[in-house]
Amino acid sequence: MITKDTYTFKILRYDAKAPDEKPEFQLYRIKVIPGLTVLAMLIRIRDEIDGTLSFRSSCRSAVCGSCAMVINGKIDLACRTQVAFFESNTIILEPLPNMDIIKDLVVDMEPFWDMYEKVQPYLIRKTPDPGKEITQSEEERSRIDQFVNCILCASCYGACPVVSRNPEYIGPAALAKLERFILDSRDERGAGFLKTMNNEKGLWGCDTVLRCIDACPKDVRPTDAIVELRKILIKEKMKQLFDKEGR
Ligand code: SF4
Repeated sequence: MITKDTYTFKILRYDAKAPDEKPEFQLYRIKVIPGLTVLAMLIRIRDEIDGTLSFRSSCRSAVCGSCAMVINGKIDLACRTQVAFFESNTIILEPLPNMDIIKDLVVDMEPFWDMYEKVQPYLIRKTPDPGKEITQSEEERSRIDQFVNCILCASCYGACPVVSRNPEYIGPAALAKLERFILDSRDERGAGFLKTMNNEKGLWGCDTVLRCIDACPKDVRPTDAIVELRKILIKEKMKQLFDKEGR
């Protein structure tokens, strides 16, 4: 019996192993108990109705970043999205854009990780190891707080219009991570590291339309990072010009 607690989950289904079949929506009707999240409902649908439904999840606490998807047209984490949040009883679920679908809501994140690796997302030291912990002041740590919060969910990568038209663009998450290490008082890679990003595939590819900021579930602002990194590049260039002219 259909009641006001009955919701229709319209979920995009596709299996890359059956490439002749096109992606199609499949409908699942199920009762929603107040307080349940989209992820909780996906787990119920898989356990009670259709064991072939595929999606990623792990922590259920907006920490692991596995369950990013498009929920009623907006990218978000399924584990932090309450079903009751929506006025309509229809919830449309699609996989993250800009990456190939492996199966249903699971996408191939290899391109995202490939781009992430390009910024060498770890501390780079040039001075000899002091043999003891390298500490930071509270102020130094606070500079990187925002970027440390990134959970690598790829929501920003999926939302980025530049990635959608240029798969060679490194993407917002990688550049936000680069800013995280450039700002880190313990990192010694220096501004010279940015030379590799001084092109359209890197820092100058961004359209600054802020879609990454809208999509980020952890309030990271990749566009701000990109703008700050561009400023460093410009300052470096100006310094070189002035040095050359002996000013
Ligand atoms: Fe996800 Fe935000 Fe990190 Fe992008 S910046 S990967 S949206 S947490």
